[in-house]
Amino acid sequence: ALDAGWAQEWLRAAARAVAENRTHLMELDRAIGDADHGENMDRGFAAVVAKLDAGPPPATPAEVLKAAAMTLMSTVGGAAGPLYGTALLRAATSLGDAAEAQPDAVVAMLSAARDGIVARGKAESGDKTMIDAWTPAVEAAATAASAGAGPGAVLAAAANAAQAGAVATDPLVARKGRASYLGERSAGHRDPGAASTALILAAAAEAAG
Ligand code: ADP
Ligand code: MG
Ligand code: MG
Repeated sequence: ALDAGWAQEWLRAAARAVAENRTHLMELDRAIGDADHGENMDRGFAAVVAKLDAGPPPATPAEVLKAAAMTLMSTVGGAAGPLYGTALLRAATSLGDAAEAQPDAVVAMLSAARDGIVARGKAESGDKTMIDAWTPAVEAAATAASAGAGPGAVLAAAANAAQAGAVATDPLVARKGRASYLGERSAGHRDPGAASTALILAAAAEAAG
């Protein structure tokens, strides 16, 4: 079940994935940004794990995501901190006080997270940002849920689509964020935030078992 335990395991798995891919995310950001995305994300998710370890166990998945959102906003510098913080905060609001998330709630949660990133960063599809991983993830999740998939399968569909979306940023020219300063020279490199989004959504699916 996608309960508070799942949400905790999601964030812990995300922290492990980000730590394991720290150098990779730095290399991606070195090519089209300022090389700090791996460091920013690793610092932020390590702080999230520390916060979960320290606090009383949250009763709902929304409480877990809200605590993580606050921690990411205050510890991750740069563009990605406020964007992921907003995403998790909107995800928490979408889940409400439910003890566990059913498939339609998972779709609504992912959609709310994506909409929060758009509200904050104003990126459109194809701008070579993390939105290019989030939007296909939301669409794949919705398709899976309407085909009757369970919550874990909905997350797995989202994670696969996010990874494909991240790969599909390779040829794009960046129109938002630091990479947009490079203009045409941003083409031929994967967007770091799209890559980290794929890792984070894979962690959500992994945690669902
Ligand atoms: P910074 O660029 O401030 O160093 P990071 O390196 O941590 O921040 O994050 C960069 C990532 O943030 C990009 O790869 C992109 O996915 C994402 N990003 C930047 N600006 C926007 C935006 N306006 N909307 C959505 N995502 C964005
Ligand atoms: Mg950067
Ligand atoms: Mg930076």
